[in-house]
Amino acid sequence: MNETAPKIRLHVEAPLAEGAEIALDRGQSNYLVTVMRLAAGAEVAVFNGRDGEWRAALTDAHRKAATLTARERTRAQETLPDLHLLFAPIKKARTDFVVEKACELGCARVRPVLTRYTRSERLNLDRLRAHMIEAAEQCGGVSVPGLDPPQQLVAAMADWPRERMLIFCDEARTAPPMAEALTGVARGTPAALLIGPEGGFAPEEAERLRAHPAALPVSLGPRILRADTAAVAALALAQAALGDWAR
Ligand code: SAM
Repeated sequence: MNETAPKIRLHVEAPLAEGAEIALDRGQSNYLVTVMRLAAGAEVAVFNGRDGEWRAALTDAHRKAATLTARERTRAQETLPDLHLLFAPIKKARTDFVVEKACELGCARVRPVLTRYTRSERLNLDRLRAHMIEAAEQCGGVSVPGLDPPQQLVAAMADWPRERMLIFCDEARTAPPMAEALTGVARGTPAALLIGPEGGFAPEEAERLRAHPAALPVSLGPRILRADTAAVAALALAQAALGDWAR
């Protein structure tokens, strides 16, 4: 990141181009003007997930409806690694943690799936997306992962595209360790991680997954991890082997 880049970063929905005016919502206006006490002329960095990162000046410091004007592009748009995270929703705070970490660690799409033993089926997608946006603002990313509505695991499997490797995190721990299983898989291979709920996968689900043509069953070590820990560990291993953690 550029050393002179503004410290405050905001995600906006508006298109970004030189001279574009960006009307901020009430929450963002209040944050800049009341909380951060910025005055007209102050600069912030903005991104929308499509047009890279821009330096923008506060041109109307209204605390309920402030306006920014985009000045110059400071970073090109980056493409996120073609990695999806499929996870069974768990307790609210732990699901919040999973989506936040998925954004920080870098994945393109977060896909909640409903499995036989999933207990928390009601998800507030707006709240989860707000968590991901906050994570992208904080971690210096210029993209926010997509967030799909929850889908039945059976339906996701039935529709699975052949070319996307399905890395099935299998708590039976009889599969090869994930780092070893990914040896020799080309960086950039489209992939998805699948993490089960607190209760794990039902025996028949696990059997069907192991037999799926796109599945690569893997182990995350000798201990049983909580679902949120497993998601973070698997994302880190996938990023190191297939994603954008290489130099
Ligand atoms: N209740 C299950 C049991 O005791 O066997 C454990 C489920 S675990 C809390 C939640 C999910 O994390 C699992 O479905 C799996 O996807 C993943 N997971 C946890 N530990 C794992 C490991 N050592 N290897 C592979 N996956 C693991």
